[in-house]
Amino acid sequence: MREPSPPLASRAHRAPKRYLYAWGDGHADGDGSMRDLLGGKGAGLAEMTKAGLCVPPGFTITTEACNDYFANGERLPVGLLDDVTAAIGALERKSDKRFGSPENPLLVSVRSGAKLSMPGMMDTVLNLGLNDATLQGLVALTNDERFGWDAYRRFIQMFGRIVLGVPGERFDEALEAAKHRAGARQDVELDAAALRSLVADYRAIVRAETGREFPSDPVVQLELAIVAVFKSWFGQRACDYRKFHKIPDDLGTAVNVVAMVFGNRGDDSGTGVAFTRCPNTGGNALYGEYLTNAQGEDVVAGIRTAPKIAELESAMPEVYAELVRIAGRLERHYRDVQDIEFTIERGRLYMLQTRAAKRTAAAAVRIAVDLANEGIITREEAVQRVTPAQIEQLLRDQFDEKARAAAPRLAKGLNASPGAAVGRAVFTADDAVEWTERGERVVLVRVETSPDDFHGMAVAEAIFTARGGATSHAAVVARQIGKPCVAGCAELVVDASAKRARSIETGLEIGEGDWLSVDGSSGEAFVGEVPTVSARFEDQPALHTLLSWADEMRRLEIWTNADKPEEATQARIYGAQGIGLCRTEHMFREGDRLPIVRRTILAAPLAMRARAARAAGQAPTREESIACWTFNAALAELEKLQQSDFEGLFDAMDGLPVVIRLLDPPLHEFLPNLEEQLTKVVRAEALDEANDADTKLLAAIRSLHEQNPMLGLRGCRLGLMVPDFVKMQTRAVLNAAIAVRRAGGRPIAKIMIPLVGHVNELDRTRALLEAEARDVERRAGMSVEYSFGTMIEVPRGALTADEIARSADFFSFGTNDLTQMTFGYCRDAAERGFLLKYVEEKVLPANPFQTLDDAVVDLMRVAVSKGRATKPSLQLGICGEHGGDPESIGKCEQLGLDYVSCSPFRVPVARLAAAQAALANRAGAPPTRLLRSLRIIRAAAQRSP
Ligand code: PEP
Ligand code: MG
Repeated sequence: MREPSPPLASRAHRAPKRYLYAWGDGHADGDGSMRDLLGGKGAGLAEMTKAGLCVPPGFTITTEACNDYFANGERLPVGLLDDVTAAIGALERKSDKRFGSPENPLLVSVRSGAKLSMPGMMDTVLNLGLNDATLQGLVALTNDERFGWDAYRRFIQMFGRIVLGVPGERFDEALEAAKHRAGARQDVELDAAALRSLVADYRAIVRAETGREFPSDPVVQLELAIVAVFKSWFGQRACDYRKFHKIPDDLGTAVNVVAMVFGNRGDDSGTGVAFTRCPNTGGNALYGEYLTNAQGEDVVAGIRTAPKIAELESAMPEVYAELVRIAGRLERHYRDVQDIEFTIERGRLYMLQTRAAKRTAAAAVRIAVDLANEGIITREEAVQRVTPAQIEQLLRDQFDEKARAAAPRLAKGLNASPGAAVGRAVFTADDAVEWTERGERVVLVRVETSPDDFHGMAVAEAIFTARGGATSHAAVVARQIGKPCVAGCAELVVDASAKRARSIETGLEIGEGDWLSVDGSSGEAFVGEVPTVSARFEDQPALHTLLSWADEMRRLEIWTNADKPEEATQARIYGAQGIGLCRTEHMFREGDRLPIVRRTILAAPLAMRARAARAAGQAPTREESIACWTFNAALAELEKLQQSDFEGLFDAMDGLPVVIRLLDPPLHEFLPNLEEQLTKVVRAEALDEANDADTKLLAAIRSLHEQNPMLGLRGCRLGLMVPDFVKMQTRAVLNAAIAVRRAGGRPIAKIMIPLVGHVNELDRTRALLEAEARDVERRAGMSVEYSFGTMIEVPRGALTADEIARSADFFSFGTNDLTQMTFGYCRDAAERGFLLKYVEEKVLPANPFQTLDDAVVDLMRVAVSKGRATKPSLQLGICGEHGGDPESIGKCEQLGLDYVSCSPFRVPVARLAAAQAALANRAGAPPTRLLRSLRIIRAAAQRSP
């Protein structure tokens, strides 16, 4: 009879803190909420035990013990080993076995487990407790000599590599030699005698490499293994992984000591890894792999390519049915898709781990939608489960179908992580890093990857391996970091030392530096560079559903920055609710318009002089008159072109607002570069070939040259100096609106003035514009509706927003310029110069041109409150690059803006981010009554333009 265990929670501990939490026999000291202390694995094992699942007993040494170990100068806390001994005693009682007993030995696994899962990043030792004596007990108990020797050789191999630091290849070589001697192709074909001699080889390797015998005392083995797991927290690959995923170093890892169950006890045993739904597509079926007669790491390490989990159904139907039942139960319990590890020992199913499954972006969306539809989570939770980065990933490129069909296929393997990527082949992780540092895009080609390859995987465009299945290291990590991956490509023979790979099916071969195109969705790799096309949003129904839920939850509208009808159409497909910024100057550079624009710019100075002369009652010179004529003619040409551009935009955005910003950049941007033109003229003069046009152009460029053009004659300043631009653009906008309205459309025109710093600038521009509008209406014989607003992008503009709001119907924050002028960083030069270094060295917390800086937000807040104090119905938006950045969208939500405007491609991301921001805000303070009533007033005002 077994003695009943004392209540675990009441057991005293010797160490100054409670470092150990045990589970077993349906009881657990900890639970699923204690991930900080027990790590994900420990918390999961405790929770599964409490839920009544069949889990082998064990105990967790906390993450706090790991941190105290390092704080103590890498010494175990005093008393910890006494507590471990006591816990082993309890484990002996629960398992009815004895640690170190030659008759009835208890064997354990020792596994790391941090709070956040770091797949394969740290170390696991199985079968700990074996020595020559306990081996005899294991053989007698199981009546299986082969099994005993197999367990022993695995233990020496794992312990030797992980704890004693013996290079793993030494053991691999000995294993290969043993297989060769025995004429075996697989490990399982080695018989007891072969394994016994392999154990002798392994021990000799340990002796040769460490100068010591393999430790035989199980207590010593356990202590060394615990220390090794702690140490692995600061191992190179764990540090690399944490750096990439921004995981703090001070979380520490827990150590889980678990009574062994054996998947290698014959054909009624096995081990597997499964996802409760497909981590690639999100499909609702058990997905994974299992190996008959195998132990723990065999599946994950890709040592044998494992059959699909569905085959377990025919091999062991009852076990499979139980696994499916448990999978469903775990999903409902954790309210999320789980990644589970299990072992079948003699037909009995044990659960060894459960954790939230890593998944691709497509799977994340489908799973969130399905779980909500199945009533397991709410729609709000579904929207919060998907990250903006995952939405971005879903809209990533795919290979162009035609080009793909024509490309020479190198090989086909497993479609382990979707997406298409192109790069040059490299064969080691270090090479991947070196090549990318030289500015190359690379595909990492390996026989299989291990955690030591992480740094190479992180920089590669895609990963391509010859071995390993859907749950192999390569596949799991690639999915997690969002890289395409083809794994388990059996036809590929990789010679890493020669840096070549060849397909035995197609005969095609690649070497280092050759271009390779990897399709992680189909599992194919092609020789050469296959062109890519963007993913079709229209074909992703789950994404549509999720975003439609997000739309119901968000308060912010999502507009887009678009200059062309095609962009507007695309943005509308993505769900844009208006155009927040049409940069009209982009149209000036389109097609053959640049020469017309240049004619205008070159003629402008004399034309302005002619006008001034006339106004003063004098006759302009002949040259001035010609310039005036040229100027007006070029402007008229531009007006026609602009009107048709605007008609296109109004059509594409029918019924939705279109904000058209009048000319903003300094004029020199439309002229050739000063140095180039100077060189051209000087060269021509040296050859006596100078021509008048080039010389005049040079003079014009010189006259427009400014030291700081971004702070110079641009925006509304330019409009006031050359009012014809304002007038021409006003006419083009309003005539376009009239034309579209006449054709039955519903244009909503909004004209926006850039770079206003003083209300007088806006007032004067408005006066010009209104006079022109009246003229347009008179000529058209009908009235035309439009609203008039300004960008807030100069700090003075923000600080005097109360005055500016008197003359504006709307504000749009131009946070690119506002950031430039708040920091005093030149937006054209800073990112090429010091700024990225600043971010890297943490002088700044983030790049302020990507994520709104808090000081810029403060300026915006002043502008919002002053602007609304003057005009409660003032419409507020943002059109700087920050409008598509999820973190900045969160700040815009808090500021109470009405909309964010971003590039078409980022509209879906912004829809989700805006919903998440609204949910986060809702979870915080409810909106004040004042804010609510302001919103109602504004909404009413916006309905009637
Ligand atoms: C801005 O300054 O944020 C803006 C949208 O205008 P531009 O980038 O064209 O200066
Ligand atoms: Mg600007």
